[in-house]
Amino acid sequence: MELNLDSGFFLVTASPEAVRREKEKARALRRTQWWQRQISRGICHYCRRATPPGELTMDHIIPLIREGKSTRGNVVPACKACNSRKKYLLPIEWQDYLRNFSIEESTEEGVGRQDPPEGNKNGRV
Ligand SMILES: [Zn+2]
Repeated sequence: MELNLDSGFFLVTASPEAVRREKEKARALRRTQWWQRQISRGICHYCRRATPPGELTMDHIIPLIREGKSTRGNVVPACKACNSRKKYLLPIEWQDYLRNFSIEESTEEGVGRQDPPEGNKNGRV
């Protein structure tokens, strides 16, 4: 076990053993009906794009390495694009990435990428 405290900011890191345990739980969770239902919706949790269930991966909102757990509250279906972005972006960059979607989401309630019926609100200049 090694604590990395010289990185300037505080990061929790789980022990490799704990991560392995949670990975095993994730594997079991993937086989549950609950998970099958999640992916059968065919929607990525992050970008809300329609994605074939076969291409949705299980993503941990709090990564296992940061002591996230393989529980229903912490796993979401993610498309491959989002999943790999989340892996490679810094947490702060990932927040920015998500913000793009939440801006879109606030203007259209539903799921998917339909154009808003009234066009964009660009009047009143
Ligand atoms: Zn996505």
